[in-house]
Amino acid sequence: MFVGAHPDDETFGMGAILAKYADAGVKVYFLCSTRGEAGTVDPALLEGYKSIGDLRGDELTRAAKVLGLSGFFHLGYRDSGMSGSEDNKHPAAMINAPVEEVAGRIVKYFRQIKPDVVITHDSAGGYGHPDHIATHNATLRAIQLSGNSTLYPESGPAFQPMKLYCGIRSHRVMKVMIRLMPLFGQDPHHFGRNKDIDLTRMLKHEFPIHASVRLQKKYLIIRDEAVACHTSQVGGRPRARGIMGFIDGFFKLINTFFGNHEYFMRLYPQVKSRHLESDLFQDI
Ligand SMILES: [Zn+2]
Repeated sequence: MFVGAHPDDETFGMGAILAKYADAGVKVYFLCSTRGEAGTVDPALLEGYKSIGDLRGDELTRAAKVLGLSGFFHLGYRDSGMSGSEDNKHPAAMINAPVEEVAGRIVKYFRQIKPDVVITHDSAGGYGHPDHIATHNATLRAIQLSGNSTLYPESGPAFQPMKLYCGIRSHRVMKVMIRLMPLFGQDPHHFGRNKDIDLTRMLKHEFPIHASVRLQKKYLIIRDEAVACHTSQVGGRPRARGIMGFIDGFFKLINTFFGNHEYFMRLYPQVKSRHLESDLFQDI
């Protein structure tokens, strides 16, 4: 199960790995914290939809099919938007929900779906999106609580997932990317459609790599097909591409030279040896 913040997080970054395991016969689910309502989209794309959330839900349905997911669920929070935006103040915004409450909702899905392996965002939220950070914190909390039958008894019998990972980027590659960005007319301190993203924040944290999973090219192709389903986030001119689209494209370029790997840090159980895992289901 991948626990992510927005419809498209299952595809950018995670798409290839989820497709790989789905293809191997694993039942792969996406638990999505919000409906991505705070994203900005081309108004023409909204035709026929009641809201941005509806449009993005439709895109997710198509992407999930391409990736081979067994299903996806929404936790029911509202997209909190980027740090400092008006959306932060909305009472239903994910960042305004207490972590124990969010964890409780996640526990319910853990106990229903019974995932062996769970993946979420890293503690810095990738490029720092507040919903990514909130999703990370709540998922970590849910892993600590789900196996305790005295907690959340209304959510069903206790169930303990065996492993929790967060998907991470190679620090070294990120550093190179951020250094090269000005050559492509991009300012890493003021990135994205609204110039409100400081990508150099991604260099503040260097997470240890505990698992490196090699991916065959066919899974990158499936991921690209899923990316194309998220029209509102990647469509149009290159300048209008979503932030994850840009980062994704860069890593794809790197992959062509150095081979396709996805990196993970294991959060549970705690890593005691320096042995690098090559499969998230290793030792299960
Ligand atoms: Zn996201």
